[in-house]
Amino acid sequence: MAEVFRHFQYPTPPLAVYPAETIEAYRAFIARRRASRPGEQYRIPTEEAWDAFPAHVEKRKVSIGTCARAFGSPCIHEHACVGCSLLRPDPAQRARLAEIRDNLIARNAEAETEGWLGEIEGLQVTLAGAEEKLRRLDQGHGQHTALNLGVPTMRGDR
Ligand code: SF4
Repeated sequence: MAEVFRHFQYPTPPLAVYPAETIEAYRAFIARRRASRPGEQYRIPTEEAWDAFPAHVEKRKVSIGTCARAFGSPCIHEHACVGCSLLRPDPAQRARLAEIRDNLIARNAEAETEGWLGEIEGLQVTLAGAEEKLRRLDQGHGQHTALNLGVPTMRGDR
């Protein structure tokens, strides 16, 4: 099955070539999914929706990465991106994120020294988010690398 998926490395993005039966199985899957969903969910987008889409994409760009919230939905985390699980950190902004992390450590230490207990919990949540994002960047997440999607099974394979 290994020869079924041949990946050609172009500058960006990588191109996967699939056999005809895989494409047919995928199309059949999509047709079944569409048949099982109410027709009104497949309405044609309005002009206003098309106009709003680029604006939404532009608003998803933040200083340390890209917000992955769903189209048309507002930020429900008060733009506290460092601690937010919806942020996809930008590898080019690693130094900025490390600076934010170091600042959070200093602020947390100051809050503990001064007894600002009301601030400590929030600072630690944000600090945990910053450290998690730095860890993801250091593990290569967010880089544009090839992703192994595995081999799909078809009905005849079972
Ligand atoms: S806090 Fe989360 S949802 Fe809000 S803008 Fe930042 S990443 Fe997006």
